[in-house]
Order: sequence, then structure tokens, then C-alpha cells
Amino acid sequence: MSVSEVEKKVSDLSVKAELKEGTGEVTADKAAICNGKGKEDKPQKKSKQQSLYLDPLPGFINERLTMFDDLQKKYNEKVASMPHVPIKVVLKDGSVKEATSWETTPMDIAKDISKSLSEKVCISKVNGQLWDLERPFESEEEGQEIKLELLDFESQEGQKVFWHSSAHVLGEACECNMGAHICLGPPTEDGFFYEFALKDSMDPNDSNERTISQSDFPNLEGVAKNVIKQKQKFERLVVSKEDLLKMFYYSKYKKYLINTKIPDGGSTTVYRCGSLIDLCTGPHIPHTGRIKSFKLLKNSSCYFLGDANNDSLQRIYGIAFPDKKLMDAHLKFLTEASQRDHRKIGREQELFFFNEMSPGSCFWLPHGTRIYNTLVELLRSQYHKRGYEEVITPNMYNSKLWETSGHWANYQENMFTFDVEKERFGLKPMNCPGHCLMFKSRERSYRELPWRVADFGVIHRNEFSGALSGLTRVRRFQQDDAHIFCRQDQIESEIAGIFDFLKYMYGVFGFEFKMELSTRPEKYVGDLKTWDAAEAKLESALNNWGGKWELNPGDGAFYGPKIDIMISDALRRWHQCATIQLDFQLPNRFELSFKSKDNDEAESYERPVMIHRAILGSVERMTAILTEHFAGKWPFWISPRQILVVPVGVKYQDYAQSTRDKLHEAGFYADVDLSGNTLQKKVRNGQMLKYNFIFIVGEQEMNENSVNIRNRDVMEQQGKNATVNVDVVIEQLKVLKETKRGDNVLA
Ligand SMILES: [Zn+2]
Ligand SMILES: [Zn+2]
Repeated sequence: MSVSEVEKKVSDLSVKAELKEGTGEVTADKAAICNGKGKEDKPQKKSKQQSLYLDPLPGFINERLTMFDDLQKKYNEKVASMPHVPIKVVLKDGSVKEATSWETTPMDIAKDISKSLSEKVCISKVNGQLWDLERPFESEEEGQEIKLELLDFESQEGQKVFWHSSAHVLGEACECNMGAHICLGPPTEDGFFYEFALKDSMDPNDSNERTISQSDFPNLEGVAKNVIKQKQKFERLVVSKEDLLKMFYYSKYKKYLINTKIPDGGSTTVYRCGSLIDLCTGPHIPHTGRIKSFKLLKNSSCYFLGDANNDSLQRIYGIAFPDKKLMDAHLKFLTEASQRDHRKIGREQELFFFNEMSPGSCFWLPHGTRIYNTLVELLRSQYHKRGYEEVITPNMYNSKLWETSGHWANYQENMFTFDVEKERFGLKPMNCPGHCLMFKSRERSYRELPWRVADFGVIHRNEFSGALSGLTRVRRFQQDDAHIFCRQDQIESEIAGIFDFLKYMYGVFGFEFKMELSTRPEKYVGDLKTWDAAEAKLESALNNWGGKWELNPGDGAFYGPKIDIMISDALRRWHQCATIQLDFQLPNRFELSFKSKDNDEAESYERPVMIHRAILGSVERMTAILTEHFAGKWPFWISPRQILVVPVGVKYQDYAQSTRDKLHEAGFYADVDLSGNTLQKKVRNGQMLKYNFIFIVGEQEMNENSVNIRNRDVMEQQGKNATVNVDVVIEQLKVLKETKRGDNVLA
């Protein structure tokens, strides 16, 4: 089928769909595609459909369409005049399909394979390049072999194209419903957004500063629904810079993008879907009808190109799926995630808060500090076992240190800097340079290596205030940071030691994890031989470890290869926390050396390798991840509220208090509720605060020196009236704490 035939078929389909689904609007007039007019309305109050569209629509919409039509006619003539020669299309499984260049499209091939495939496929890849499904293969060489891949929503690239295409639908809705001047609308990790201005971007006197709110979403979604029903085709067209400037004359932002991204005399592509024509390199799904479910989620404000000196814009985020079931699952996931939000739980459990007096620096309340310290203590106990030594280093350093380390040249904007007695100083964003000074503080011998130095030092990074978010993006934090100074031949065993450490730590939390090895980038320091040897060692350590790992070629830092570790939480979200980074650069910059032999000859000095490693990453961020992972139901060993003792009446208050004191003496976080609330209310409060155990005490318990246990997590033990001796319980609690089990079972 030729391009124009496909086109006709699709547009026929869309008209049919329109009529069948009874929106009442026929797409006779171009503007009607978008504004839903097209039949003479009775002089009634505005229909729901009408309120979705501006009346009249902004003039630029029709002007753009007219210009597009003219240019497309010429383009189609050009395509028709290209030599249509037989070519071979080779699929991933090796099978070969006959095709004709400038005529056959990847969609034709998909249909030839199966109808269901053609309905499912999101995008194709032609000779490794993402390619619109209805764009013909381009070849002038008879018999040429072309590689074709067909990707659906399951693939990452297919998903990205799907969400990117959905952003166009949102862009179209913003134009039709609000006359927005749209700027950029990319896909994101979990959906897409579009950002735009509501005032005329070319008119400095336009004072339309209306801000979007969630109440605008139903109308925008209404337009999107129509767009989807109309199965608007994504049509690609190459346009010269000159014509683009004419086409987008009305928009300051599009003109800026055209002028800065396209060289004079150059060209790029625009895509049309319905009334929208947007500057875009594509590619897209075949038509908007592929979107079965579309939802707007939130809005925010931003600056054009992220620069605070530019116009302030508004941004709307959305999500779309090719199957309604996927949307339902996603919305369920979002609800679950919002219930687990660490900022919400942090408030409810009084763990921490933030105050505008110090943005991005957390105030850790007593119960939050308990969690924080337990994490740090867990690491300390492991450091003791694994041959690490803890040190304490300064927070502020003279800029001369940062010049040596390279931070002054490459990282200064992320640092807080200030003057002290006429000298420039900076708060440390990392511990490494301080540890280099420590290494250098006296002569070192090979006998001391590997030297594993751990530091919980407070770190500051100057994050833009608008980017700060709960505990996940902060200005002040502590890492479980350590540096290992070692010989080249110790790299592999050190890496294996870190893997073992990771496995232990993530096992305690119940995280699954996977690793990624990033290798030498194009720009690098150090010699090739060292790099190759180091990469081979990391690879060998990864293979010996035996778990899942992936290769990220060329993604290492310029100063050394690295391994990133991703953990998967209870909601199957991946977080990057730990990193293992080999560094050949810093030991050079600080001219570190160690005596490699037991004699005094000059050549007996060697340069150590430095391994940067963190397992939790920042303690702040890990607390956020753990809060959401456990949904605030902390395992006993890390729980800031372990036991609540509740007397059934006033008569048993003394016994309740003494039981609480006994638990406290034994080292547990225990509280007693002596308030005037009812028993029921007290138990409910304890449950709300997620105490691991509520011990209820009354006549029998007082007489037997026992407690009646309500277990937070084990349902079958909650209603029972069995009482357990206090001394027995204390021993059971000690075991639960020591084993760091997450099951909350006393045995
Ligand atoms: Zn696009
Ligand atoms: Zn470091």
C-alpha cells in the first residue's frame, strides 16, 4: 500500500469512528477537528463539547495548517518521483520480506506478519534508527537489505515513543482549550509533560498571567479524548528553517528553538496530528487512537529552558497507556506510593521536618534520629567486622584544597563558598580530598594497604531551592562514605569484599539489587593499560559474584570505571544508592604514594588506587527509601517505637509504668499510655503510630507479671488473650532485635 493510500484509509477510519461514536462533530472543516464545531448549533447554552474549545480558535492554528498542506503537497510529489526499487527487509529473526523503497512502510510489514502485531507495535527501528511506522523505507539501491525491528509498549523505546506521542495530544489540548503557546513536551521516566505560556509570547504587554489548576484538567482531558477518538495520524514533514520561522511566527519559544538548533539553510521535521503542528524530530506512534487511556496528574511552574532569567511557564504532567488495565494498575500504584510518601509518614510519625529557615536541611526529631542512628550503628558494627576504620574530618576547607582536587574548576557551583580572613573557603561536598590529606599526612607502607577509611561527615551541596524535595533531594546530608586506598593487585579482592558487604546490607532490608558496570568514556585521564586492567578486574569480580549485572559501555567517569548498584523496593521501584568508583585521578592530583618495598631506594614508591564506595548512599535518602519501602511499618530492630504498654484501667497504671521501665532498661524504645483515653482509643493510637507491639496489662497480667501481646504485623496473634511472662518477652525481643528480622515474630 502506498503512503497516500494508507493516509486515506486512516482518515476514513477516523471519520467513521467519529460518526459511530456519536460525538456529533464531523471533520469537514479543519478547525472542526479541534474545536468540535462544524454543524450549525441551535441557539442554546454552550454544549459540553463547545466549552472544551476556544471560539474562535487562535488564528495561528489555521495558518499553520494551510502552510503545512502546501508543503506536504510538494513533499508528496517528491516522494512519488523517487525511484521505487525492490529492496529486502530483514527482520530480527532473520526472515526476509520483499519491499519497495519509497513505498513500503514498516507498518505494511507488520500487517503482513499479523494483524495483532500491527495493532500492538508502537514504533519501528530501521537500520538501528527509530522510524515512524508509516514512513516508507528510503533506498535508491536495488536489492538493498534493510534491517527492521518492530517495538511495542513493553520495550523501553516503544514506551518512550508512546509517551512522547501522548505529549502531543496534551499540546493539542492546551492550544485548543486555552490558546497556549506550547514550548517543549518530552516523555519522562513515568509519563510525559508539556510546558507552555498562557499569554501571547510575542506580546510583552500581554498580562494574561492566569495559572493552571487541577480544575482545568477535565476540559483538557475532554479535548484529549476527542483527539484520541479521531485517531489523528502523526504526519511527518521536512521543513526548511526559513519556512519554519514563517510557520511558527507567533511563538517566541518555537522561534528561539528554530534559531538556536537549526543552522541557516538547514531544515528539520515537524509533525502534524489533528490541528497541532509541532516542531519535533519524532518519531511517533501511527495515530492517536492507539492511546486507550489518558490522564493528567499534576501541574507545576517552570522556566523556559530551566533558566530563571527566562519567561515563567506552566507545566502539566500526564500519563497514557495502550490498555486501560495498565492505567488502572498505574493509578493503584500511584495511590499506594502516595500513602507511603516519606514526607507524609515523616509527619505522621514525627520523624523529621523541614523549615524555610534552612531549606534542604532536615530537622531530625527524636524518633527520626533513632532510625538515623540505628542505620549508622549498623554500619559501624559492620566496619568493625570488615576492617574499616572510622575517621572524622573537617567540614570547611580552604579553596586551595578544592583547586588541588579539581572541585574548584568542575564542581564549584554545587558548593557553598565563603570568605574566612580574606581567604576563600568551601563547605565540603565530598569527603575524598580530606581523606587524601590524611593518607598523605605521613609516609605510608604497602603493609598498611588496603587502607579502608570510613567517614560519616556532614556534606553540603548547593542544590537549587526549587529542586529540593523531602529527604530525596537535600542540601545537607551524611553518607556512609568510605575510601579504600589500595595497590593495583588488590582491586579485585576489595571489590569482592564490597559486594559481600552490599549483599549483607541489602539482605537485612529485603532489597533485591542489580549492578551496572560503566566503562571508559571517550574523554578520560590516565593510561589505557591501567584502564583496561581495572575494567577487567571489575568484570571478573562481577562474574565471580554471580548475580545480575549489565554493561554500560563508555559511561564511566573520566577518572575511572564505576559500578552502580540499583535496589528494588517493595513497590518494584528502582533506586540507585550504592556506587563503587575506581579513581586513578585523585591520587595523582594529591601526589599520593606508598613505599612498595622494605628498602629506601627512590624507585620503591608507588601510587595507590583509590576506591570510593557508599552502600546506603546518603543516610537521608536511604531513610526516605526505607520509610516508603516499609510503608512506615519499621522492622523491630530499626523501629523508633517498639513497644507501647497500655493498662486496661487506672488500677493497673503502676504495673504498666514499671513494665515500661523494665523494657526501657533492657534497651528498647518503650512507652506507656497513662492518658484518660479509653482502652480502645489507646490501642488505636498505638496502631496509628505503628508500634511493633502493644502490651495490654490488667488484673491477670499484674498478678502473673505478664503482658498480653498485640502484634502489629501478625494478624492471627492480634485477637488472642494469651499472656506471656515479662522476662520471657524481654528475651524474645532481644533475639528479634539482634537477628534484625523483618517478620516481627516473637519466638
Ligand atoms: Zn514529537
Ligand atoms: Zn569519594
